[in-house]
Parts: sequence; structure tokens; C-alpha cells
Amino acid sequence: MARLGEFDLIERLFAPLAEGFPGALNLKDDAALVPISTGCRLVVTTDALVAGVHFRTDDPPDLVARKALRVNLSDLAAMGAKPLGLLVAACFPKDVDESWLTRFAKGLAQDKAEFGVPIIGGDTVSTPGPFTLAVTALGEVEEGRALKRSAAQAGDVIMVSGTIGDGALGLDALEGKLANLFEDERKWLADRYLLPRPRLELGQALAASRKAHAGMDISDGLLADLAHICRASGLSGIVRVQDIPLSSPARTALKDDPKRIERILAGGDDYELLITAPASSVAPLQEIAARFRLGLTVIGHMAEGAGVQALDASGAPMSLPFKGWRHF
Ligand SMILES: [Mg+2]
Repeated sequence: MARLGEFDLIERLFAPLAEGFPGALNLKDDAALVPISTGCRLVVTTDALVAGVHFRTDDPPDLVARKALRVNLSDLAAMGAKPLGLLVAACFPKDVDESWLTRFAKGLAQDKAEFGVPIIGGDTVSTPGPFTLAVTALGEVEEGRALKRSAAQAGDVIMVSGTIGDGALGLDALEGKLANLFEDERKWLADRYLLPRPRLELGQALAASRKAHAGMDISDGLLADLAHICRASGLSGIVRVQDIPLSSPARTALKDDPKRIERILAGGDDYELLITAPASSVAPLQEIAARFRLGLTVIGHMAEGAGVQALDASGAPMSLPFKGWRHF
């Protein structure tokens, strides 16, 4: 990387990613200038990923780049924010070669195009350690409309977008654990793990509707993330496990081994939205989600108390002793 030269690298690979955003000053100045709409709040979030910890060291560099952008965009979606720009700080191992860097930059470019969000700054350094990537996402949301974890109310229904468990099962598929599934089912699940879909349009529309109360994105696992809403709102959450929306490959995997319900409930990497809303909002919110060809499924409700409870098909509490799960 030293041979390639940092400034040459930035000019060739990264400056084109700032195109369309004049305030980025072609990545040639000390910082970017970001205009914010009147009456809006700046929404800021950052996430660091380390090779061998957050992604597999042999994952393709373009997919690593895209996933890093997407998990940050998902946090903006969770707040109901519209993305403004992304900053990427990358620590490249000393032995990284030009083709690897080019593929990495190509991944950034693909998602800049797909989501229309420019890379407006960042840093590149060389490290003796593993490849490490920190992405910061900037967005804006109209004042008072952000979907917060603390805004759930007792009696709210709990809803999730899309399907749950595909990311965790996708990782299992990549690790050769879903041998009984068809190849195309394994591929579909693996794709959901490698390339999450941040629900940006849905999050913005839900926030704008004022019909949802609390909201967040599901990254740690459905039950663990619901527990975050419960704690922040001072309430308990009750989930009917049979109502959780599953993709067809996930249903097949679950039929093959019912124990996989634990992966679905706690595995994480879903990047779907988890919201609470008054029961009267269910139909209008589902209409909004349908505009983006997404399901928004009621899976339970919020109540007084604390903690998360999962009920089985007969309505009996399930005991699920795994990380992220707390039964009060
Ligand atoms: Mg989040």
C-alpha cells in the first residue's frame, strides 16, 4: 500500500465515490461541508468491523465494503433518517495488493450507486494487524420524528419488517451447516448474510407517518434487540414465536431441525426494522410497507413489567437459554 501512495489511492479509488456531493470538496480538503435541511436533526452513527471478528477473512472485499456501508445505513433507517453521506476509515494490512483495493473500492461504488449515498470523507492507513474498517453514516430526520427505542407504550403491538433469521442461517449455510437444504436455498440465505438490505425507505416513511412509536433495526438478534426497546421504554415485550415471519428457506431449515428456532430468534444480522405502534396503526403501517413490497408483521405486544417473553404455539412461555436472552 505504501508503494501505491495514499494520495494516489484516494484520487483514483475514493474521490470518484464523492461525486455528486459538492461539500466533499473532491476529498481534497481537511473536512467535508454537509448542508442540513431546516427543521431537521443530524443523525450520526458509526460501526467498526474487524476481519476475523465481524466478517470472515476470505470474504470478497467488495462484499465486505458493501456490508459495512449497509449496516450503518440500517442504523439510519432505524431512526427514520434520510442518508446524507458516509465516511470510511480503512486500516489495510501492509501486504494488501492493488487488485484487492480495487475490488474493495468497487464494492463501495456499487452501493454508492444503489443507495445514492456518496462517500464524503474518511481515512486510509496501513496496519500490521488485521484489515479493519470503520464507517460513519450521516443522515437527517425532521425534528421530533426519529424512531427511538424509548418510545414504546404499554399495549403497543410489536411488528417486524421482512423475514427474520435469514442472516444467521445464511452464515450457517456459508459454514456448511445446512447440508439438507437445496443449493439455491443455501445461496439465497448466504446472500442475505453477506448483503443485508437496509430498510431506508420504509424507516423514513414510518417516521414521517407519525403512526409508529418505538423503532430500531435488528442486528443482535430479534429477542436481544426487543430487550433493548423494553429496557429503554421501561416495559416488557411478549412475542408469539409462531407469528414470526420466515422466508421459505428458513422454514425448510427449521423443519429440518426445530432447534434452529434459537438461531432465528437470537442469531442477528437481520437488519430488518423492529417497531412498536398502537393497534390502530397496524393497517395503515402495513399499507406503507406494501408500497416498498415489504411485509410488516405483528409478532406480539408490549406490556407493563420488564424483559422479553417468547410464547410457543400453545401460548406457553418458551425457555430459551442463549446469549441475548433474559427471562424475568
Ligand atoms: Mg442498530
